[in-house]
Amino acid sequence: MTQTNLSASQAASKPATAHTRAANARVRESLPFEDVRSFENARRGFIASIDPLRIERTGGRTPAYDLSGLGFLEGDCPDTVNPSLWRQAQLNALHHGLFEVTEGIYQIRSFDLANMTLIRGETGWIVIDPLTSSEASRAALQLANEQLGALPVVAVIHTHSHVDHFGGVLGVVSAEDVASGKVAVVAPEHFVDESLSENVLAGNAMGRRATYMYGNLLEPSPTGFVTTGLGAALSLGTTGFVVPNDSIRETGETRTIDGVDFEFQMTPGTEAPAEFVFFLPAFRALCMSEITSHHLHNVYTLRGAQVRDALAWSAQIQKSIDRYGDRLEIHFASHHWPIWGRDEAVTYLESQRDLYKYIHDQTLRLANHGFTPEEIAEQMQLPPSLDRNFSNRGYYGSVHHNTRAVYVKYLGFFDGNPANIHRLPPSDGGAKYVEFMGGADAVVQKAQRSFERGEYRWVAEVLNHVVMSQPEHAGARALLANAFEQMGYQAESAVWRNFYLCGALELRQTLPTPSTTTFRASEGMAQGIPLDSLFKAMAVRLNGPNAETARLTLNFRFTDLDKNYLLQIDNAVMHAFPDRVADAADATLTMASLDFKRMMMGLTEGPTLISEKKLAVEGDAEALLALTALFDQFERRYPIVTPRSI
Ligand SMILES: [Zn+2]
Repeated sequence: MTQTNLSASQAASKPATAHTRAANARVRESLPFEDVRSFENARRGFIASIDPLRIERTGGRTPAYDLSGLGFLEGDCPDTVNPSLWRQAQLNALHHGLFEVTEGIYQIRSFDLANMTLIRGETGWIVIDPLTSSEASRAALQLANEQLGALPVVAVIHTHSHVDHFGGVLGVVSAEDVASGKVAVVAPEHFVDESLSENVLAGNAMGRRATYMYGNLLEPSPTGFVTTGLGAALSLGTTGFVVPNDSIRETGETRTIDGVDFEFQMTPGTEAPAEFVFFLPAFRALCMSEITSHHLHNVYTLRGAQVRDALAWSAQIQKSIDRYGDRLEIHFASHHWPIWGRDEAVTYLESQRDLYKYIHDQTLRLANHGFTPEEIAEQMQLPPSLDRNFSNRGYYGSVHHNTRAVYVKYLGFFDGNPANIHRLPPSDGGAKYVEFMGGADAVVQKAQRSFERGEYRWVAEVLNHVVMSQPEHAGARALLANAFEQMGYQAESAVWRNFYLCGALELRQTLPTPSTTTFRASEGMAQGIPLDSLFKAMAVRLNGPNAETARLTLNFRFTDLDKNYLLQIDNAVMHAFPDRVADAADATLTMASLDFKRMMMGLTEGPTLISEKKLAVEGDAEALLALTALFDQFERRYPIVTPRSI
C-alpha cells in the first residue's frame, strides 16, 4: 500500500451532490413511508435497555459494541443517506434492549448484529443464538436476569452455522458445562463442519471483506456508518465455539428441553449450509431463524461465501407455511422484530417466499434468452406487489447482486463470451486501458466531466483502471473516492453503502493499523475446533511454491485423545491421516491436542511448549522448524480498491 498523497480537501468527505439529492428524493416519493407497522412491532413488548448502549471489550482498546454514536438517527433523513435505508437504520439502532415476545419468550435485540432469544424453561433459560461475541451475549443475559429474575442457562440452541449466532456462546455457558452434558447445546446436523469451514478455511479473506460489508472501519455519521441492514452493528469482541452435544437431523424431529416442546424443520442449503427453524406449540410461536427477515437477504453475500439456493430457500418457506401456518400466532426470527397475528405472519411468509422465487425464476428466464449476468441484473425489477413491501427491500442483499448469484449458481462465473475466458488481471489490464485512453491525466479529466453529470458508476469503472495501474495518481484516487462516496449515499443496501464508503476511505487514507497484523484465532476457537478441521485449515496455509521440494513425514501422538495422526507433505500438498503411524517418520511429536492447536493457531510456539515440557520431539527437531516455515501467515488488512502487489 502506498502512502496517500492526497491533500486535506481531497481526503475529506463530501456533501451529497445535486444528482444524489435528486436520486434520494425519488426514493422518498416512490415508497409508502406512511406504513409504520414495523415501527410498532419493533417497539412492542419493550422492557428495558442500557442507555447509551456501549459494551466494553475484554482487554481491548475499543468497545466490543457501541451504539452511542448513532443518536443522529433520531433526526430526519439527511441528503447523504438513502431514505429507505435510513428507515431501516432507525428500526435497528433505535429499538435496542430486552423485549417480551410473549409471556415466556423474550428477545434482546440490537445488542449485536443478531437477536438473542430466551425461552423460560422449567428450571432455567433456553438461549437461542448467543450473538457474535462473549461480551455482547454476557451483557444481554445480564440485562434479562436483572429484569426478569436470574435463572441459570440450561440449554443453548444454535439455529445455524453463521458466527453471529454462535461466536458468543462462551458468554452464556462454560465449555465444561457443555462437555459434561449439564447444558444441552442443540444445533442442526453438520453445524460443526459448516461453521468452521465457512469461517476458517477462507476466514481471512472473508474477515477482510466483512470489515467492508459491515462498515467496521467507518465512523457512525450521516456521511459514514448508519446500519448494516441486518442489524444495528456487528459486535467485535471475544469469539468462541463449543461442539454441540445434540444434533437435529430430520424435519419433524422433536425435543422437550427443560419442559418446553420444540418441533424442528430442517432448512439446510438455504440461508446457511446448516440451519433449522422450529415451532413452539405451547406458545403458538414460529422461529424462522434467518430464513426470513425484514428485508431481502443475500443469495450471495458480498463478504464472500458459497452461493445460496434461492429456489430451496423459497420452497422451505412454503414448507413452514404448510407445517405451521394453521397453528402459529407469533413469528419471530434471529434478526429484526417479530410479527404478531396469524394472518399478518402468513402474508409476510408468502411475500418472503415469492421474493426469492421471483428472483430465481426471472433470472433463469432471462439467462435462457441469452442475457449475461450484468444484463440480467440491470433489467431485473420486482413486481410492485413485492417491491413496495418494506420487508422485501434490499437493505442487505440487493435484487442486483442476488440476480447475479442465481446466475452463478446455475451457470458459474463465466458468461459464455470468450473475451472473458482469459482476461488480463486488474493492474495489467488497467495499464493498457489507460494507455489507450490517452494516459492517466486525460482519463481523470474526462472522468471529472462524467462525475459532474452524475455518472458515478462509469467514473468508478474507468478510474479503477487508473488506480489499479497507477495507485500513486492523487487525482484519480481522489475522484474515484468521490464517486464511491456518492454511490454510497444513494445505496439502499447497507452493504453496498458500507463497501462504497470503505472503498473511499481506503483511497483517502492509508490502511488502518489493526491490533494484530496477521489473522489470529481466539483461545475459544482453539478449544472448539476439531483436529480434522484444523488440519484442513493448515493445508490451506501451506505455501505451494515454497513447499515444492519439501518431503516431510511427521507422526503426531495426541496424549489427551489417545489418537495418532500422520502428517505428510509431498508434491506441495499436505495430508493429515488419522490413526496412522509412519515407520520412517522425520520426527514424532507427543503432546496434548489443545497445545498443538494453540501452536498451529499462533497462540504459542514449539520451543515454549518444549521448555514447558508440554511437547516431546523424537527424531529430527529441525523437521519441526522446517514445518512451521512452510506455512503462510495471512495479512489481515490487505488492500481491496488499490493494487494488492504494492
Ligand atoms: Zn445472522
